[in-house]
Amino acid sequence: LHKYNFSAGPAILPEAVLQTAQAEMLDYNGTGTSVMTMSHRSDAFLSILHHAELDLRQLLHIPDNYKVLFMQGGASAQFNMVVMNLANGFKRVDSVVSGNWSRIAHSQMGKLSDAEIHLAAHGGDLYNYTDVPAPETWDVDPDSAFVHYCINETVHGLQYRNIPKPDGLPPIVCDMSSEILSRPINVADFGLIYAGAQKNIGPSGATIVIIREDLLERCSDRIPDVWNYHSHIIRQGMYNTPATYPIYISGLVFRWLQANGGVEQMQAINTMKAETLYSAIDNSNGFYINNVKEHARSYMNVIFHTPEKELDKLFVQQANAHGLCTLQGYKSMGGMRASIYNAMPLQGVEALVSFMQEFQRRYG
Ligand code: PLP
Repeated sequence: LHKYNFSAGPAILPEAVLQTAQAEMLDYNGTGTSVMTMSHRSDAFLSILHHAELDLRQLLHIPDNYKVLFMQGGASAQFNMVVMNLANGFKRVDSVVSGNWSRIAHSQMGKLSDAEIHLAAHGGDLYNYTDVPAPETWDVDPDSAFVHYCINETVHGLQYRNIPKPDGLPPIVCDMSSEILSRPINVADFGLIYAGAQKNIGPSGATIVIIREDLLERCSDRIPDVWNYHSHIIRQGMYNTPATYPIYISGLVFRWLQANGGVEQMQAINTMKAETLYSAIDNSNGFYINNVKEHARSYMNVIFHTPEKELDKLFVQQANAHGLCTLQGYKSMGGMRASIYNAMPLQGVEALVSFMQEFQRRYG
């Protein structure tokens, strides 16, 4: 029985990456040590970090005036760091709420900051988000420190499939945790991008931050170094011990992406996967339900439910027995969620669709 892992994060990683990691576990590249036990200042690790950054730059075509950091603290730490660092001397930060994660970001951003965190747009009733607020409707002040939004809402299965353009907006700060590297983006449209690694990149523990150089001037010396982007940049990401092992695995994932056609090819496969799954939902005569507006349906996290909570439970149980694992929805949402990140092969989605059809024949 082949197992497919639909977890939202920590999530599936490419099998080839895990095999390499296993082969190198006790002896990385002839060093006689594991990356896990190696000094972060060793030549071997410095080379891992350097190449991880170069490969990420190549994959996302990151312009030279952007810096890249592998930080700790998860995406959640960024909710505060972006304000502490980028809102110095500004009166206002604009914040778009389109689902669970941007709602949490919004509630956290004002802590330790004098700036007003202005709700620029709100995508739905609390806990019930079925559409993303269009950028034309955002109430944003061009003089704000920045506008923050989440490009893919992992819990509510919502995605800005049309990526908001920066025209007339202050710098855009974007949470890309659950979609980074799943499709091409124009990095120059953003002031700062951040993403926890544990979905499309690697294991939990590393957080990627991509920041436009000129914004670093805003980072005040009064911010403790460990939360200060500028302090991390001037020490080449070595202000303190980075998450060495997660960075190493992320680097292997970047190379896997390069060997598999990069983000352009990922987009093609991800589109096929998502469309296969959504059409199975839409063609089920109402047995499987997804209420997200079609133009905002996430290609990474596909949520659905049946008309009955008991059936949802049974679905998750039986799917699990069929090797289709971790399909339960987020704790506050119920129902099902299939996270189909880059490392999920099309066959995994096809196996899920045949199981859905079989389950409907039996209980529909
Ligand atoms: N933002 C998004 C879009 C997420 O999906 C998550 C976690 O699932 C977070 C933020 C929080 O990430 P972390 O647990 O790394 O702080």
